[in-house]
Amino acid sequence: MFYLYDLILIRQATLGNNLQVKKGYWATATANITTLTSDELYAAADQFKRKTKISNPVIHTLINNMRIISSFNPESYREKIRLRNVIFGKIARLGIPLVWFTLNPHDIGNIFVVKLAGEDIELDDTGVKAHLLKLTLKNPSLVAQYFHTIITAFFDCFFKCLSRDAGIFGTVSSYFGVVESTTRMMLHLHGFAWLSRNFGAADFSKRLVSDTMFKDRLITYIRSIIKETVDLTNGQRYATSDPPGSATFSLPDCMTEEEFIEALNVDSNNVTAKVQMHVHSGTCTKYQRKYTKSLLKVRPTSSVLPPPLAQRPVSRNALLQTCRFLFPKPLVPESIVTDKGFIRIQRNHQFVNKYNPVISSTIRCNHDVNFTSSSPKVLTAMYYMTNYVTKAQSDRGQLVLAAAVLKKAQEVAKAEAATEVGLLAPKPLDMAKFTLKAYHRFTRDTEVGAPAVAHFLLNQPSFYMPQESRSPTINFYWVKVAFQTTLAMLLDGSSPDITTTEADHYTEFNLESRRTNMYENYRKRGQRLAGLCFYEYASQIFVQTFRAAAGRGMCFLFESTHPQYATHVQVSVNSRGSLATPSLCGSFTQFQDTDNSVLSNTYRTQDEIDETLLGLFYPWNKLALDFEQDHLQYIRTLEFKNTYI
Ligand SMILES: [Zn+2]
Repeated sequence: MFYLYDLILIRQATLGNNLQVKKGYWATATANITTLTSDELYAAADQFKRKTKISNPVIHTLINNMRIISSFNPESYREKIRLRNVIFGKIARLGIPLVWFTLNPHDIGNIFVVKLAGEDIELDDTGVKAHLLKLTLKNPSLVAQYFHTIITAFFDCFFKCLSRDAGIFGTVSSYFGVVESTTRMMLHLHGFAWLSRNFGAADFSKRLVSDTMFKDRLITYIRSIIKETVDLTNGQRYATSDPPGSATFSLPDCMTEEEFIEALNVDSNNVTAKVQMHVHSGTCTKYQRKYTKSLLKVRPTSSVLPPPLAQRPVSRNALLQTCRFLFPKPLVPESIVTDKGFIRIQRNHQFVNKYNPVISSTIRCNHDVNFTSSSPKVLTAMYYMTNYVTKAQSDRGQLVLAAAVLKKAQEVAKAEAATEVGLLAPKPLDMAKFTLKAYHRFTRDTEVGAPAVAHFLLNQPSFYMPQESRSPTINFYWVKVAFQTTLAMLLDGSSPDITTTEADHYTEFNLESRRTNMYENYRKRGQRLAGLCFYEYASQIFVQTFRAAAGRGMCFLFESTHPQYATHVQVSVNSRGSLATPSLCGSFTQFQDTDNSVLSNTYRTQDEIDETLLGLFYPWNKLALDFEQDHLQYIRTLEFKNTYI
């Protein structure tokens, strides 16, 4: 009850003028809520859960109000959009991310989890498995800490993306990973990696069909990072009842590279036999009609392979009952590229999940690795994954429970710390943050797991990305406006009418970028930087006061008409590694929703896209040099000026 009340008040403070609902809304909402008792709230939450009608009219008003908040929640929405802009920016600079992964660290009963808590426990103790299980279950914050430790190490050691060294996927220029809590309420990670210099990846399929040498090299590469083969006979021997995390991969000093690879293959195969074999469950048919689920209940036996799919009769029903993860998968005797340019990697078992031998052998957990060059898939996944970071849509009933669960987790952690040596006391709850976070994070239609709650309370990130010192945001709308202005000045000495309502179309969520006004800086960057296009300028140049820039090598004065001419100076980064990757925001065109192949609209759309691209990659001041008087005369007569330029 109090949390909810606080929550409303804090929302009020946070939203301030941004809130797009009528005045008086908050007053009504808070007045309604103060009349509610906690029992009524719990009853409402229960009714929500049972999907029955909410009987209390005040609860009904409250829930409606909460829905309004959830749809106009700028904080979480902003965060989601911000991340999307960052990822768009990375795709523009680094190409599409080709490697995809999911990690499910095996936390329950993991000895490492328990050791992390400073528990003194030996693997040969009697009843160790049950003991480990008990220890992890009673303290969800350990699982969260374990998760964070593993994921941080995973990125640091295997990606090495801010160094020159290659990681397990080769040279990786960037990555993005997001935390999700699974249906068994544990934490897992979805992510993707940008391989360095992967331009042209979108044309992969064409090149794969026409260029044999390229095809062979690519298949060799993929096979070195992703495996779909398993030797169960060997693996089963290993499949003992060891507690997870206890097995070791010993590395004698005198091992040759061949011996190492052999040992890695054996070890990763054994882990794979244990944790990578798909078994159908409720999740496989999560989004399908109920009656089809029962058809999936036949479990495969691992030693006898089911017949390949092609030999089975395929009916309409058979398609409906397909497992969401597409198991069983057809066997592939040898890695090939199909006529249409799809890559099929060797597979000797229909139910083995794709795996990476190094991840198998080190983290020893269930995971999934994919190589895909399909850009629509990348965009879909990006939207899906950024949705995890913040939930715009929320289940109001769940919110009440989420606050209670959060508080409960904190109490448990506190009690643990009071009675057990070696546990750090949890930080006291910051109520302002707590309710805000509860609102943002736990308003989802799935149940909230205790580790997810702990992950949150421990202030661990909901996403992982390499740290970059500077990330300017380029807004396509302002780029276009700036370019239009320059062109109009040149053609008829006027400046176009910039309407702010149109700017709303391209809402900018990063206020930082508006404050610094990179667009004006660029316009008045001076002769020495005249050759840079706007995108280069945003990546390479930052502005400092003269005092701060003292001693720096590459400084450039603004033009004397720049408002900060006397106090500030433009500084260039001094290495490729320190170039920033601008986030990209806004859309290319205002017509994209209405452009339904109506020809005039299509031309106009194209002209807008050209305008954005010119604004980004063509130095605006070059217009006057490149188009002399005669050309200008001609451009004036054109309808689609940008396309001509
Ligand atoms: Zn399945």
